[in-house]
Amino acid sequence: MSQGFFAGAYGGDVAKLDDDARLECRICWHIYDPAEGDPYWQIPPGTPFSRLPEHWTCPNCDSPRDGFILIGEGR
Ligand SMILES: [Zn+2]
Repeated sequence: MSQGFFAGAYGGDVAKLDDDARLECRICWHIYDPAEGDPYWQIPPGTPFSRLPEHWTCPNCDSPRDGFILIGEGR
């Protein structure tokens, strides 16, 4: 059942994400960093991606949450 996910794609299952996981928008490359939160949506720093509200979209291009891919750790 391979769907040809992008490398690092998490399959849309946010429950699998670490709380400090950073994700990147596939459309505009905006990065959501839990350490910074999201001022646009008034998301406080320290909010994991998995805890973002259902209606959250990319603050830059309006892409939905499942349009984000997990990016490498320790960079
Ligand atoms: Zn975007």
